[in-house]
This record gives sequence, structure tokens and C-alpha cells, in this order.
Amino acid sequence: MTDLFDSFRRRIDYIRISVTDRCNLRCAYCTAESVPHLPHDEILSYEEIRRVVQAAVGLGMRRVRLTGGEPLVRPNLSTLVKLLYQIEGIDDIALTTNAILLSRYAAELKAAGLKRVNISLDTFKADKFKQITGGDKLKDVLSGIETARRVGLNPVKINTVVLKGFNDDELVDFAQMSVSQGWHIRFIEHMPLVTAGAEKAQLVAIKDMMAIIQRPLGVLEPCWPASGNGPAKYYQLSGAKGTIGFIGPVTDCFCSECNRFRLTADGRLRPCLLEDSEVDLKGPLRMGASIEELKKLMHQAAVLKKEQHCLSEEFVPSKRQMWQIGG
Ligand code: SAM
Repeated sequence: MTDLFDSFRRRIDYIRISVTDRCNLRCAYCTAESVPHLPHDEILSYEEIRRVVQAAVGLGMRRVRLTGGEPLVRPNLSTLVKLLYQIEGIDDIALTTNAILLSRYAAELKAAGLKRVNISLDTFKADKFKQITGGDKLKDVLSGIETARRVGLNPVKINTVVLKGFNDDELVDFAQMSVSQGWHIRFIEHMPLVTAGAEKAQLVAIKDMMAIIQRPLGVLEPCWPASGNGPAKYYQLSGAKGTIGFIGPVTDCFCSECNRFRLTADGRLRPCLLEDSEVDLKGPLRMGASIEELKKLMHQAAVLKKEQHCLSEEFVPSKRQMWQIGG
């Protein structure tokens, strides 16, 4: 088996798979305009996704993350988890979700082979939750978090996109949850992808987030992640069981360590989050492509992987919005 490297000698061992372009929320920074949803037959079937993952495993990929849209709105997601779990060589299946439906599905997903979840939550305040997501579902998310922890989808990580003037006043409350509840929280710099100008003003840089937290709560000590080897840098507050990670796509570009591919719900392999080059896998899959042919297409995608994006200098318009790529 030959592992997959891009032109910059980065090893690709992780694939994020968007299983649907539908979502039960409409977060303001994620969904700017309404784009019609893909017809069902444009979406890869679970069997097609399984074949893509088989090919990926043949190139040394070991870790899979299911995302969306909102992955839990796709019926029978645990069937897909089971299919992927049976592939020899896969050792980590994770899910990124808004958790609205997680209380309902957490136990069956765990039984199917899901290892852990990342849950997106930007505020603890019901009115602000409704304002940013368009949905009145904060209680469901909080109970989804508790259910995930209870059934052992650990470590449960909370992803919080920090927006100036919206939730930067809650950074300390979130950080405190790493002490009082043992939460693993990751604060994410907002990427100005939806529109230029106005959005850029919403950025809170990592160094400013850290200062806001350390002022009342004390020193953030560097630590190792609870699991995964993504782009976050991890810290801990004194006495905390949980960790606090910071992901800085704007001020702390992590492209040099990028180890991933993304598969869109309509079967395009996307080598970079912020770059529109894609390789179509759906067409070849439906023409009966073999695993070896799929692997060749993955090599082509690896060649398209750029050295780095330029988010710190300019607004990066993309043909696809975040909900179409999966974050
Ligand atoms: N629906 C799922 C969820 O809510 O986690 C998965 C899809 S969502 C697109 C994945 C992640 O992308 C979420 O954590 C979301 O907050 C993040 N995201 C979306 N737009 C973003 C942006 N402009 N900057 C930073 N993160 C963003």
C-alpha cells in the first residue's frame, strides 16, 4: 500500500465527508444566500461513500469525519457508520453536528461504530441562539451534548465560532465549562467567506480570545489534545478536566500541516477547504470505477492541493458555501 502525499510532502490521512447539503439550521455566517438543495439522485448513496472510503483506506487514510449540511438529517446515518466501521483499516469515525437530533440518535450511532462527536454551539443564550441559527433549539443542543457524553462518544468537543460583538462576551462562560463540566471546547476564528467587508470586522483573533479568557480565569497552560490531530492548539485552565483549543484559520494559518481531503455530498473530492478545484468521483463511481481507478483520481486531487490559502490577506470567495462543504 502506498500512502498519499501532495506536492508539498503533506501526508493525507483524513477524509471529511459531507453526507447531505441539507441543514435544520441556517447559521448566519454559514448560509448567506439560499441555494437550491441538490436533488436526491445527485447525492452519493451510502454504498458509493463506502467505495470512496475503501479507496481512501487503500491510500493510507485512517480517519473519517461525517459532516454536512447537518449529517443527522440524513435518514439512517448509523447504517453508513456501520458500513464504514466494517472497512478494515479505519480506526476513527467521528461526526460534526449541531446536535439538535443527537439525543435521538447518539446511542445507535455509538453502537454502529461512531467513536466521537464535535458539536457546534456558539452561545448559551436562547435569544442569541435563535438570532444566529434561525432556530429555537438551544435546549435540544444542550441535551444532545449530555446524551453524547453519557453514551460515551468521547471526547465530546464543542466547536464555537467567535464573532465580535455577538458572542465574544461569552468566551469566559464557555471556558469555565472546561473546569466545571470537563468540556473540551474549541474556539474557532470566524472565516470571512460569506461576504467581504462587513464580515471581516467580526474577527476575534486567537491572541485576543486568550487574553479575554486569561484575565479572569488565569493562565492557559499548553497541553496535548484529548484526541485527534487537527489544527487546534490546546490549553488547560488550572484544575480543569477539559481542554480549550484554538483554531485560527485567519491569524494562525495551519495549511502547512493540512492532512485532509473533503468529499462533498454530490461526490466531488475537494483538496482544500478554500479552493474551488475539485475532482469528480460521482461520475466515475456511477460508471463502475474500480477501487484502483478511484485511487488514481485521489492522486489527481492531491496534486491540486495548494500550498496555502490567503485568508489573512483577502476575502476568499468560494463557489460553495460552508454548509455545502461541511467545514
Ligand atoms: N451542521 C453541522 C454543524 O453544525 O456542526 C456540520 C456542518 S457546519 C458547516 C461545520 C462547522 O463549520 C460548524 O462548526 C460551523 O460553526 C463551522 N463554520 C461554518 N461557517 C464558518 C465560518 N465562516 N467560519 C468558521 N467556521 C464556520
